[in-house]
Amino acid sequence: MLPRERTPRQRIVDLLTGARLSSFQLAQMLGIPERQVEDHLPHVVKTIARDKTKKFILDPARCQDCDFVFRDRTKLTRPSRCPQCRSEDITAPRYGVDQAAQKP
Ligand SMILES: [Zn+2]
Repeated sequence: MLPRERTPRQRIVDLLTGARLSSFQLAQMLGIPERQVEDHLPHVVKTIARDKTKKFILDPARCQDCDFVFRDRTKLTRPSRCPQCRSEDITAPRYGVDQAAQKP
């Protein structure tokens, strides 16, 4: 038996720890389609939510034309259109994993 390799989700957590990356960047680094990264992300969020030593950071998408920030967006993927000015020039959200402040 070969040693068990890290799963794509574990590798995503590794890459995001202390970093801020878009799903496109994650896809490039993992060598998998961006669509697969987007499928993994909700599970990564759940895993992190159960781990009291870590917290998931979502750096929200932003409209390039009017600077609208998609703060209340619960979906992780990039929105297609700005609700304020209808622009489709939206920056991708970035994800990260930080150490949570430890309470004694
Ligand atoms: Zn806009």
